[in-house]
Amino acid sequence: MTTFLNSLQTANHETPDIPLEQSCPVDGRLETCISDKDSSRRGFLRMAMCGTLTSLVTAAGIEFATPHPVLAQSKLSPDAALQELMDGNRRFTTGRLTAHEQDLAILKQNTIEKQEPFAALLSCADSRVPVEMVFDQSIGRIFVTRVAGNIVTPEIIASLEYGAAVLGTRVILVMGHGNCGAVKATIQAKEVPGQISALFPHIQPAVDQAGPNLEAATKANAKIQAALLRQASTVISSLLKEGKVKIVAGYYEIASGVASLLD
Ligand SMILES: [Zn+2]
Repeated sequence: MTTFLNSLQTANHETPDIPLEQSCPVDGRLETCISDKDSSRRGFLRMAMCGTLTSLVTAAGIEFATPHPVLAQSKLSPDAALQELMDGNRRFTTGRLTAHEQDLAILKQNTIEKQEPFAALLSCADSRVPVEMVFDQSIGRIFVTRVAGNIVTPEIIASLEYGAAVLGTRVILVMGHGNCGAVKATIQAKEVPGQISALFPHIQPAVDQAGPNLEAATKANAKIQAALLRQASTVISSLLKEGKVKIVAGYYEIASGVASLLD
């Protein structure tokens, strides 16, 4: 895990896909790459440049329309944001969904010019985990990153940093799920085609820790990825210290639809 952490913390200096002319000329400092027209914008960039958000900005050419250091647009506390997620999952499992009707109204109003998500999710790409539906959340409410095995990579960190530091998400839920194919394949350690095996080193620490039981390894993986996220992101760790965000690990049971917390 230490090796992974080191690679994640230094990833913004090693990301190979960034074109040379977009990468920063001096020790990866984002500030030096962008014209200084807006002092408040520079303030945010100063805060963000230490983290892997640098990779996101330089690779994608993202412009921040809202330059404040931490917008915290949601009025919810981190605990209340987590409660809102779990309340939504209760509506989902008891068949009292409300988000769908709200979505249709939102689309009719056509007023989605900005997003104000109160929560962020790191979930597996598995098609049986429809995140917005699982938490009964309408358009614009949750900031979702998905990758097989819900693993923490530099790109995932960058996305979640953007969610927390710019959009003001108050809780980040790292959620594994039942019968996860990525964890199962890591346990089996068989030869697989293409680049699928690139997932395995990320998940292997959980298998080493929990053994070959799929559910135990999946839950261990969610906790390990949450811990990695806490440590690897300088942006998020400072928000954690200030009590502006919390990171929790969870597990989604496909058969019942119940999402439960692991921490
Ligand atoms: Zn999965």
